[in-house]
Amino acid sequence: MRFYSTKNKSKFVSLQEAVLKGLPEDNGLYMPESIPQLPESFVKNLKNYSFQEIGFEVCKSLFDGAIPENDLWDIVEKSITFPAPVVKLDDQTYILELFHGPSLAFKDFGARFMAQLMSYFNRGEDKELVILVATSGDTGGAVAAGFYKTPGIRVVILYPSGKVSHLQEKQLTTLGENVTAIEVAGTFDDCQALVKQAFLDEDLTRSIRLSSANSINIARLVPQSFYYFEAYKQLEADERPVVFCIPSGNFGNLTAGLFAKKMGLPVHRFIAATNANDVVPEYLNTGIYSPRPSTPTLSNAMDVGNPSNFARTLDLYRSTWNNIKNEISGYSFNDAETKTAMREVFQKHNYIMDPHGAVGYLALRQFQREYAGAKGVVLETAHPSKFLPGVEAILQTSVAVPERLAVLSQKEKQAWQLGAAFHPFKSWLLESFG
Ligand SMILES: *Cc1c(COP(=O)(O)O)cnc(C)c1O
Repeated sequence: MRFYSTKNKSKFVSLQEAVLKGLPEDNGLYMPESIPQLPESFVKNLKNYSFQEIGFEVCKSLFDGAIPENDLWDIVEKSITFPAPVVKLDDQTYILELFHGPSLAFKDFGARFMAQLMSYFNRGEDKELVILVATSGDTGGAVAAGFYKTPGIRVVILYPSGKVSHLQEKQLTTLGENVTAIEVAGTFDDCQALVKQAFLDEDLTRSIRLSSANSINIARLVPQSFYYFEAYKQLEADERPVVFCIPSGNFGNLTAGLFAKKMGLPVHRFIAATNANDVVPEYLNTGIYSPRPSTPTLSNAMDVGNPSNFARTLDLYRSTWNNIKNEISGYSFNDAETKTAMREVFQKHNYIMDPHGAVGYLALRQFQREYAGAKGVVLETAHPSKFLPGVEAILQTSVAVPERLAVLSQKEKQAWQLGAAFHPFKSWLLESFG
């Protein structure tokens, strides 16, 4: 399988190059040359496959021999280490829980798989690969956990001092081993600028093998298509059409769903759910795509005004509005509506949704008003305890923090302190890895 850039469809790279590079030079996004159809017998017999076996079949087909089967099985087995259970709220509403990983959000799937693939492609190199990541909080936790103890790879995470939550900081700074945190006296933009400058610095790139764990790396998208199959497997078989409802920000999760459908999963429709940052629903409803600065909301992981993965969706449907709106419906909701939905789900079903999942729930309800009879699966993208105390205040109830996160409070923070200037960071990198 070869990959092209959405900005140049006649130039191809290998899976290895797409994964290790992350971004093509032309600033497009890597896409697989074609998306293969899985055998009908596989889709009909999903119940006979474990989650890991589903992942293996999807990759085997998509990567088409780029990785030998026993190595590929190893990669999938090490990435898919926690379940993605479906919880039934009522006969037409199902919740796909994607928060059972170490950082309590779906981003764990992508981060772990990317770490395994990078480690695989880096094997045989005698020099370690140093991954630089700037984070405003959430992605860093998933990446840190994903790369933790991965052979041949060191991870350096830069985060803005005082601007991430207490537990987020613990997630970044308590792992140790191959994960190093740098607390930058500055903003997230300063952290990002430091990383960008490092990649442009010839002294650094000559003596250290640098790479990034970019959020638009194709390796993060692929495992996200596994759980659409895994969810479908868990639904009771009947004749009703299945729709997936995806709380969206950069639209990686939704794009992975479209991949699953192209591979043969019988999905009737995808529903793009957003908060007030409604660039994509607006496009679906009017045909006009106008990216703009984001507005802060309660579901802040979806505060995106210019969704980075939407170029992949446009590419899949040859940028034709008609094709896209036949596959995807879009709805957006404000914070007041989101809170009301959280209370409704809690009162009716005794189920605690986080604000992101609640936006998805609202969009499913809206869709079902227009199209009765569909069986809807809402992706619950994070555990509600990630958004304390907000969730507790909205629901007037206490939310238990899962053990794996709670234990971090006791662990000691270890971070290097640096300013926003480039030179000290450069010297630190050269001393540590040069
Ligand atoms: C990242 C994130 C999203 C948005 O996912 P995209 O793939 O960027 O659309 C939604 N919810 C949570 C909790 C997230 O962390």
